[in-house]
Order: sequence, then structure tokens, then C-alpha cells
Amino acid sequence: MLDRLRALEVLTRPEHPDLTAALERRWEELPAHVKTRNQMLGRRTAGCEGTHGVFPRCNLACTPCYHAKEAQRVRTDGAHTLREVDEQMAFLRQARGPGQNAQLIGGEVTLLSPDEHAAALQAMIAHGRKPMSMTHGDFDYAYLEALALDPTTGRPRFEHLSFAGHFDSMMFGRSGIKKVAREEQLHPYRKAFCDMFARLEAEHGVTSYLAHNMTITPRNIDQIPAVLRECRDYGFRMFSFQPAAFVGNQARWKDAYRQFSTDAVWARIEEGAGGKLHDEAVQIGDRRCNRTAYGFYVGSRYVPLLDQHDERDLRWLDSFVAAFGGMDFVAPRAVTAARVVRALAREPMAVPRLAGFGARVVRRSGGMGALRSTPPRAMTYVMHSFMDASTVRPAWEAMERGESTHVDPEVQATIERLRSCSYAMAHPGDGRIVPACAQHSVLDPLENIKLMELLPAREPAGSDGVGASAPLAS
Ligand code: SF4
Repeated sequence: MLDRLRALEVLTRPEHPDLTAALERRWEELPAHVKTRNQMLGRRTAGCEGTHGVFPRCNLACTPCYHAKEAQRVRTDGAHTLREVDEQMAFLRQARGPGQNAQLIGGEVTLLSPDEHAAALQAMIAHGRKPMSMTHGDFDYAYLEALALDPTTGRPRFEHLSFAGHFDSMMFGRSGIKKVAREEQLHPYRKAFCDMFARLEAEHGVTSYLAHNMTITPRNIDQIPAVLRECRDYGFRMFSFQPAAFVGNQARWKDAYRQFSTDAVWARIEEGAGGKLHDEAVQIGDRRCNRTAYGFYVGSRYVPLLDQHDERDLRWLDSFVAAFGGMDFVAPRAVTAARVVRALAREPMAVPRLAGFGARVVRRSGGMGALRSTPPRAMTYVMHSFMDASTVRPAWEAMERGESTHVDPEVQATIERLRSCSYAMAHPGDGRIVPACAQHSVLDPLENIKLMELLPAREPAGSDGVGASAPLAS
């Protein structure tokens, strides 16, 4: 009886105690410059997670590709994938607590059979992760249906699926359009991707969260606004942009990627979004790495969720974090209700601030009439700026020596960003969690050489490397 009461007490806490401890540790580790009022790392999330070394091969080619060239010589192997995913996720559960977003990422996830893919997602869920499959999107409805449904019963084995589809004109080999000159040629493929998930929901009741992932180079930067204007109603809930970095397979470095600033990319995103993006309301990690703007559309009108210039909205955010911390709102209704009550009890100021915030959001949306006639559609815009291997390598080596400063200002900045990293990968063997930049710049090449020996590709390598989706970060 006492045990049951104790379990109920933990279940209805806004945060699981393991997550509370993980957030406190993450906050402690963060450098002072990111410990700002709007910082969510170490307060709302322990950070985004991704798999590594689980299925390095891909059947498309990207320029650039963030994976080492050896990855293409590693065969996709379901048993290996499952073993690795299970170990990495178990470690993350222990180190970071439950309820964190984790990307099932490597080369191309749909080279796994639907059952292997499903088993990997189930392992992630079993370890308290919220998985998202990262794909180039070149698969058909039969694959998606086989993934979503239990082959024995024919009933859904998932209530909900999260996918990020990587679509941009620097990818080669897509079915039906091997080479792409302009982004607009991919719009039918972007639409078809979203339509598959809409059909899955209509036919089987499986809901989805879809993100759109796009690498930005001098070739397509000016096409961002048109992509957003055309595709923002397709069904994506997030558009994530990655300014290209010099990392991974050097044979795939095609352009002067540092020819434009990240501000220039963000300006194009804002232009395509059709409204001012309030990306400084909330920060996840270092601003040089991440910008995130939460908002929604009422018809074609973009409405920011938080107004970064309105002190009342910022006070509501203070209260939200104080009350809810890392609370997972995706839980059975009664559990969520109990958590909300306990959260509000520990921060009573949250109640009037929430009321004021709600009223302001309604006003920003054009009033209740507008909201009733056009249900709002949530939309998140993200820019994740990976770093070049040439600075990550010396920075990581310095950090490995226990140093947190460097004489070279560029390497110093890289150290600061790596220490504030919000997207990392697990190494259960060493007991470490490694920033994705260090993973791709430093650790991947050696890891893939080992995997080449363990899982040699049966078929000849098709090209000089893999075309893995550039990771999406949150
Ligand atoms: S993976 Fe690299 S760019 Fe991304 S948050 Fe971490 S350090 Fe920054």
C-alpha cells in the first residue's frame, strides 16, 4: 500500500525525480553566458538526443553530408541497430531521466525493414524517450503502413509517429527526381510525404508530428521564403534549417558555405514565415547554435506564442518554468491534471499570469471570432548551425584535456558552444554524452571504420559516402 502511494506521488509530480536531478546537473554544467532568464536547457529540457553508429548507410547522396565517407560501406543490420539503440537509450534514460526527445538517426532509417524500424522506436519509447525518425522521405505508403501496424493483428502498434523529412535540392538520387535544380521541383515530394501521414491517420487513426529539414547553402538560401510560403500548409509542424557546415565527407563539400551569415538565413526564414519570429523569447543552448521560434497560424496570419518584447509574456515564461519545469504534458488526462494542480500549487503566480497570457494570445490572434472561424495551426521555426570540423577538433581535444579556455578565439567560441550543446549522443561504453558536432567531426570516422569491419556492406559502395539527413535539432 505504502509503495503504491509512493508510486502515485512520484507519478503526479510535475517532474520525475530522475529528470529533476538530470536538469540540475545540466544547469550546473552550463557556462555562465547561457544561464539566462530565457534558457530552457537545464530547466525545461536536458537536451535533444540522437542515435549514432546504428545504421550509417544511406541510399541518397547529399552535398554536404555530415557523415564520414566510410559510412557507406557499413551494411544496415537490424540486429545491430536494435542492440545499439537499446544500449544508447538505456544510458540516456539513466543519465537524463525520462521524457526527452530523441532522434532515430544515422544514414537512412527506412533502409531498416518496417519491423526493425518499429522495434527501434519501441525500444526508445520503453526507455522513456520521445522518438523521431529522421528520413530523406523517399519511401512509400506501404512502408509507412507496415511500420505503423502490428503485422499479426493488423492494428496500430503506435498511436502516434514523429518523423522529420529532409528535402532539399542538394540531395541526389530521390525516386522520380534523381537530380534537383530548384527547390520548387521538390514540392510534390514534400506534399506526398505529408499526404502519406494524413492517409495513415484517416485509415488507421495514427496521428503524427512532421518536421521539415533543409540544409542551406549559397545555392538555395534565396529560395527559403518561397519554400515556406508554398509548403507551410502541407502538414509540417516544424521547419528546421541547417546552414551547411564543413563536416563529414570532404568529397561532398561543394560550395563556400560560410559565404553568408546565420542572420541572413534567419531573415529569409522570417520572410517566408510571413511574420516577425520571436526567437529570443526562448533559448535552447547557445544562440550561435540554435534559434527557435514558437508560434501558430490563424489562416495566413502568423502569431508568435510569446512576445519577446512584452515583459508580461516573459514573466509568464518565468512562472511557467518555475511551475512546470520539465513536466511532460503527454500523459493520461487524470495524471496530467494532477501534475498541473501540483505545478500551479508550487508557483501560484502562474495562475494570474497564465490568464493574462491567454488573453494577450487571443488578442494577437485577432480575437475569439478569428480563432473560432479558423482553428490555429501550431508552427515552430528552427535554425541549427552546426560547426566546422576544423574548429571542433581542437576544441574537443582541449575539452578532453579538461581545458575550458583556448588562446584561439574561434576555438574558444567553439568550446563555449560545445559546453552549451543541446543535441548530443550517448556513449554508454565510456559513460559519456557527446555533442553531435564532436560526434560527426571527431568520433564518426573511427567509429565507422570499426563498423565496416563488423558489418561490411554486401553490395559495392555506390558512391563516395552517405547522404544522411542532416540532423534536426530542437
Ligand atoms: S551539436 Fe554542435 S551546433 Fe548543435 S547544439 Fe551541439 S555544439 Fe551546438
